[in-house]
Amino acid sequence: MTQYEPVIGLEIHGELLTNSKMFCSCSADYGSAPEPNINICPTCTGLPGAMPTANKKAIELSALVGLALNCSINKHNTFARKNYYYPDLPKGYQISQYELPIAEKGWMDVNADGENQLRVRVRRVHIEEDTAKLNHEKNYALVDFNRAGVPLLEIVSEPDMRTVEAALDYATKIRAILRYLGVNSGDMEKGVLRFEANISVRPVGSSELRKRTEIKNLNSFRALARASQYEIERQIKIYESGGEVLQETLGWDDARGVTTSQRSKEDAHDYRYFPEPDLPPLKLSDAWIDAIKIQLPELPEAKTSRFISDFELTPSEARLLTSELSLANYFEEVISHAKSSPKIISTWIAGEFMRNLNELNVEADSIPAKSLAQLIDMVTDKTISGNAGKTVLTEMFKSGGDPAEIVKQKNLAQVSDESFIQEAIAKILDDNPSEIEKYHAGKETLLQWFVGQVARATKGKADPVLTKELMLKGLEERRK
Ligand code: ADP
Ligand code: MG
Ligand code: ZN
Repeated sequence: MTQYEPVIGLEIHGELLTNSKMFCSCSADYGSAPEPNINICPTCTGLPGAMPTANKKAIELSALVGLALNCSINKHNTFARKNYYYPDLPKGYQISQYELPIAEKGWMDVNADGENQLRVRVRRVHIEEDTAKLNHEKNYALVDFNRAGVPLLEIVSEPDMRTVEAALDYATKIRAILRYLGVNSGDMEKGVLRFEANISVRPVGSSELRKRTEIKNLNSFRALARASQYEIERQIKIYESGGEVLQETLGWDDARGVTTSQRSKEDAHDYRYFPEPDLPPLKLSDAWIDAIKIQLPELPEAKTSRFISDFELTPSEARLLTSELSLANYFEEVISHAKSSPKIISTWIAGEFMRNLNELNVEADSIPAKSLAQLIDMVTDKTISGNAGKTVLTEMFKSGGDPAEIVKQKNLAQVSDESFIQEAIAKILDDNPSEIEKYHAGKETLLQWFVGQVARATKGKADPVLTKELMLKGLEERRK
């Protein structure tokens, strides 16, 4: 039986976080518009004679993304008209970039299959404009032009990915970069970031590019993964039964879990691209590009490597902490306030802290970094036990209190005083002669049970390490 290999290329559309639209001064914030069709003007509704002007901020943000994706910036790039008719496209064409995009020939390293890294080539990054929104009612549709003309960036990869996992990692990393750069919120439920997966399959070992399908408007990572997997299997079945895959544009029916045919895929020439006559070419100087370069922050990959080498974290710990810029910054702020090691802090943040964050659905900084540092230090220096630390943390999330105060109020301070622990141990031993007998007869796992009894009797205040040590001694002393 022929073994098949998927070939995947992704197109990612992300709106840019600018104040105004791409070619007019209307507000781009359609999400907060109180009514449909109020952030509109002759330009973004396509009235005859209206003239577009390019949004400077959008150009800067696009160049920033290009640089972050290791692209070269085209110092001379141009706008083009992509002609097609659809009710959400008021001009009958979309202003985009075609022959000369703002950035091209970049790359990004992704996780190919859990083990190997893969360098995915980024073919191009170009500027375009979003369409209006259609609201489909039963027998008609309503069009809202508030979104028409919002700056949109398209990032196109080469067909370099061979696994769904790689495609997911690529998409995840692009989203993280866009968020790090502050150019897109990554809020996929709101549709500000959308994926399109281009998929073909071929026999393993072959290097041909076979007919591909393109799955449009995937609005979540889950949809991207499910749709790609479904499409790969669908195409393999077609080849296995001797058929041919048709080049088409597909939709994804999330409820049914199937791709659906929308139309046969148009080729570039169907769009009658031609240079946009109403906009001059963009001429970017070296000095201008250098000024953008300086704005590049430390990106997730670099931050991850630094966390691994400076803080001795494992790659997966580092990746988790750098997944969100706010979380990474928070982690470093806690480090700056704490005496505990970064490794210990990482364990707390990745574990208990994140669990609380997710449960309560709040942001990292809802607990001041300084307070978290204080709490972790109290566990490290054994003022309180690890379990008490968890209790305090939950309380801090709930009431926002100071950790030392909570420890006092709840009487959680750990006792390392030997006589206090000895007293508790003596009582437990006196009360459980038959358990002692079993222990002496060889059931050594009972040691943990004895230690647990002390923890219970002291409400968790006895230092567990010291307890274990003293308990062991006590048990030996009673051996006849
Ligand atoms: P366009 O959509 O402008 O016609 P292409 O067809 O060259 O441009 O590529 C669009 C996307 O499809 C790119 O992300 C590219 O990597 C991907 N792609 C192109 N050919 C294939 C293929 N045979 N299999 C999978 N993906 C492909
Ligand atoms: Mg396309
Ligand atoms: Zn407008």
